[in-house]
This record gives sequence, C-alpha cells and structure tokens, in this order.
Amino acid sequence: MSKIAIIGAGPAGIEVASILAKHHEIDLFEQEAAPLCNIRNKALLFPDFTSADELADQLMLKLEHPHIATHYGVKIQDLRRDGSGWQLTDSAGNAYPADYVVLATGYEVFDAHKKEELGYGIYPGIITSLDLEKMIKTGKVTNTIGDPPKTVSFLQCVGSRDEKSGNHYCSKVCCVTAVKQAIEVRKLLPNTAIYVFYMDLRMWGQGFEEMYRTAQEQYGINFVRGRISEAASTYDQRVQLKAEDTLMGLPLNMSTDLLVLMVGMCASVGTKALAQAAGIAGDYGFAQSVSEHLRDNLTEQEGLFVAGACKRPMSVNDTIQDARAAAITILEKIS
Ligand code: SF4
Repeated sequence: MSKIAIIGAGPAGIEVASILAKHHEIDLFEQEAAPLCNIRNKALLFPDFTSADELADQLMLKLEHPHIATHYGVKIQDLRRDGSGWQLTDSAGNAYPADYVVLATGYEVFDAHKKEELGYGIYPGIITSLDLEKMIKTGKVTNTIGDPPKTVSFLQCVGSRDEKSGNHYCSKVCCVTAVKQAIEVRKLLPNTAIYVFYMDLRMWGQGFEEMYRTAQEQYGINFVRGRISEAASTYDQRVQLKAEDTLMGLPLNMSTDLLVLMVGMCASVGTKALAQAAGIAGDYGFAQSVSEHLRDNLTEQEGLFVAGACKRPMSVNDTIQDARAAAITILEKIS
C-alpha cells in the first residue's frame, strides 16, 4: 500500500481520493477550512440545473473511507522530490512525505478589478458572475438599492480571449454559465429585460445549444453580438454602457441596473506556485501534463500526477471525468 498525497479537495481531488483509497493510504490537503468551496458557491449546475449542494453532498460521502485522512486549512506551499518519493511542506513549515502526489488545485476566477474600464469595485451595480451566482443561491437578485432590477446585462469574455489581460485562451464554461444564469434570473424576475453581450457563443457541450435556444425562445433573453467598451455610473445608481452591436455595425448606448461580468477561469495561486516548484508549469501558470491525448494525467516528473482544472479551464462534469481518468492512470502505474 502506497502513501498518496492529493493537493486540493475540490471535485477532482475528492474523486481521485475516493477511488485510490480502495488500494492506498490517502492524505488529502485543502488550504480552505472546508472542501468544495467553488461548488458550494454555486446554486445550480449546467446544463441540467442539478443542485450544486446535492452534488457536493454526494462527493462528501465518498470521503468516508478509513484510508482517507483529510487536512483542511493546510496550505501546501512547496513540493519537491525526496529520494524515490516526494516531500510536501505547508505554510507553517510542517513536512509531509508521500510516495506519490496528485495535483488537483483547481482554478480561481479572473480578478475583475484588473479591467478598470469595466468599473468593477468602482461603480455600484457592476458585479461578477460569481457575485450573481451567490445572489441566485439566496433566491433574491437585487439592484444596488435592494429592489428587483428592471434590466440585467451580461458581458462575456472578461479576462479571457483578451489581449490586454494577457489571457488569450477561452475559458470554455462562461458562455454556458451566462445562458444558465440568464434563465435563472428570468425565472426569479419574469418582468426584467435581460441582455447577453457576446463575441461568439461557444455552446460546445451536450444539451448546451438546446439551452441557448430555450433561453431565446422560451425565456425571451436578448443576445447581442458586441463588446461593451466602457461602463460607468449614472446619477441614479444605474450603469451606463457604451457598446457596439457588431452584427448591425451600430454603436449602442444604454443603461442597465446590473452589469454581470462573466469572469474567466485562471490558474489558482496554489497551482502556479506548486507547478513552478515541481517543474511542471505550463502556459498561463496552469500545470502541464505530458500530452492531452493519451497521457493527460501524467507529468514529466515521476510520481507526480495532475487532475482537473489545474491543467486548463474545465466544467465540473469534465473535472470529475478527468479525475476518474487520473485514478485509473495512477492505479495502472503504481499497482
Ligand atoms: S466560454 Fe464564452 S465567454 Fe468564456 S471565454 Fe470562451 S467565448 Fe468567452
């Protein structure tokens, strides 16, 4: 029986742990005080509107195994080879030896403050998709003075596909998340006008295109191909938008009660630091696997594996599938 350290108790880390625990001793590390924070922040998951809390509860049951030791609130900040195995060190200087390591440190969302022209943190009424998700979870979406908004506008690709922020990649999940959130807002607020400003809509998954059609036909969501170049505050606490409708070739000035910035997925601080320390840092700070095709859970470092969104933007479904693939890869390698 080997000792396997898994860093990150999100869906990837938990799924890998639950499978490997049948054969090996697992140490599961999580820097937050509790696991599954990113899932617990969500209300419903696309495309079938599954409850995020129900999924989290099911994942938590998988951790009930005598071979899994959980270490919450422990931030692993260094990771290096030690003889034939690995040594992990936390922020308090404690060392943890392991035969094998799985990096499952997930992602963080783009910091919208970096896009000053969009006014996040400067003007009221400008929020991120994460902020909206929390409101949806409480069942109450309000404008800055606590009333139901008359207009809600979404802006895609904030911090992704963006030369200025240095992130050229597509975050993959924010198009479908905007459609999901627009439908959820419509269900809560039947009389609110809803606009989604997009560059192009990437509805790549099973059921996504159908969701987009439903959003238009059944829920009356307005999709506008165009970019918002600037957002500012109005005297009555609304948000003034300067945009361009690129299908019509027309400039657009409008006001909205809420502007929702669809923030993309970035490599987390933990992913960047540990991938760098272990010598597997890839583009944009994500962890690099050997090959996306047949060896996507292996790294160039012997005994170090990767799972989930620490490699690239990924949906929750894909993360769990990738974690299962990682567990199979590890069992094949070390059994
Ligand atoms: S998924 Fe959509 S919103 Fe997100 S970066 Fe890609 S194109 Fe932009």
